[in-house]
Amino acid sequence: MYNPKSLKAEEFISNEEILDTLEFAEKNKHNRELIEQILEKAIPKKTGRGVECAGLSHREASVLLACDIPEMTEKMYSLASEIKEAFYGNRIVMFAPLYLSNYCVNQCVYCPYHYQNREIPRKKLTQEEIVAEVTALQDMGHKRLAIEAGEDPVNNPIEYILECINTIYSIKHKNGAIRRVNVNIAATTVENYRKLRDAGIGTYILFQETYHKESYEKLHPAGPKHNYDYHTEAMDRAMEGGIDDVGLGVLFGLDMYKYEFAGLLMHAEHLEAVHGVGPHTISVPRVKRASDIDPNVFDNSIDDDTFAKIIACIRIAVPYTGMIISTRENETCRNKVLGLGISQISGGSRTSVGGYAGYSADERPHDTEQFDVSDQRSLDEVVKWLMDMDYIPSFCTACYREGRTGDRFMSLCKVGQIQNCCHPNALMTLQEYLEDYASSETKAVGEVLIAREIHNVTNPKVKEKALENLEAIKKGSRDFRF
Ligand code: SAM
Repeated sequence: MYNPKSLKAEEFISNEEILDTLEFAEKNKHNRELIEQILEKAIPKKTGRGVECAGLSHREASVLLACDIPEMTEKMYSLASEIKEAFYGNRIVMFAPLYLSNYCVNQCVYCPYHYQNREIPRKKLTQEEIVAEVTALQDMGHKRLAIEAGEDPVNNPIEYILECINTIYSIKHKNGAIRRVNVNIAATTVENYRKLRDAGIGTYILFQETYHKESYEKLHPAGPKHNYDYHTEAMDRAMEGGIDDVGLGVLFGLDMYKYEFAGLLMHAEHLEAVHGVGPHTISVPRVKRASDIDPNVFDNSIDDDTFAKIIACIRIAVPYTGMIISTRENETCRNKVLGLGISQISGGSRTSVGGYAGYSADERPHDTEQFDVSDQRSLDEVVKWLMDMDYIPSFCTACYREGRTGDRFMSLCKVGQIQNCCHPNALMTLQEYLEDYASSETKAVGEVLIAREIHNVTNPKVKEKALENLEAIKKGSRDFRF
């Protein structure tokens, strides 16, 4: 029985409700009147408090996704851009993954870290190696990391993860600092989530991989991750453990995308219904080639156009949720989806354990890599590329450090207020990047961008203070925030 407020996986991600939704969407995919109504509901509206968006239910959003009328797809794309502009402006938050360990006891059939893979050397970073990796990441200019690890209670127990987080936050190299550590580790207990919260993590990220229970069990034939309910209910335990910001995701290509899309939105509705706050982010990874993994064996791969439409429809349905794209996608694809709703991208990423320290920008180790990286540009190249397209690469981590997480972040975001601080914060952190890490070419482009964008800060007091801070950053001061 479908119940978004239930704490049981099979009730809040009800298979029956998803199948009914898909049938409803298929029946109505050419129903122009209904599609127009749905689009109208999702348009950002000016209210006394600012700009607000109603979002869409999983049913409504599924109708949009099913609709194949080209003119309607164009309308969806322009609405997605409009929503993105209203809440995220032209800022794109930058991050990098840091792989701690590829030891894993699971048997996820799409992942090269699976227990039975004898081709891949197993590696776990020591604390000294973490210092080297993080120093290399700081030297690139990163301020925000997503740590990644396989599931292995002996090799990667929670104590190891906590020690790594502690080490990462403690490293201060030149003007560098990692100011936010997001965590992507296997589903765990409320007690362990509480420990992660106490360690000061940013977002807890866990991909569902697939919402289809039967497929899920086949794709995870053994190991703790085999338990669909335990995995699907993880975000509730994380929130019970005090983690405000959680990040959802589906690994597209494993099962049918329309099913996953409905499941993903039902999961978001469930978090909102039970905890009063939806997911902080949604990631949209697609299965990639890797050691002993051939992505072609999964017959649900999606083309770039479908991928773009999924992203636009997620943007329309959950307007306040950040959307993340990784270097699994190439430059062309990333370019297309940035305008449709993506708000965070990684740059200069390495997906191997120990892939940063000691390697130049065009050298990359493949032996312990999790998957092939499609966008192999350096962070500096990605930053310049974004600025050439008039985006502001942002290294900001202020919200979380100011306690603006969970519903506090959402309620500010919901009335468009978050932009009053995000815009100057993005410019100030970009200025730091230009001073400390950028190539001279990137710096020149960035200076022009900041000089232009500072005039888009509407509050005169904030603008004056931001200008003052930008000058102070040029003279050597760091870490200002609103
Ligand atoms: N071990 C943790 C877990 O089980 O959730 C998470 C860490 S894993 C390093 C991060 C994510 O990489 C997985 O959740 C999966 O979605 C993704 N992944 C695994 N194999 C992949 C592949 N071949 N191509 C693309 N992404 C993959």
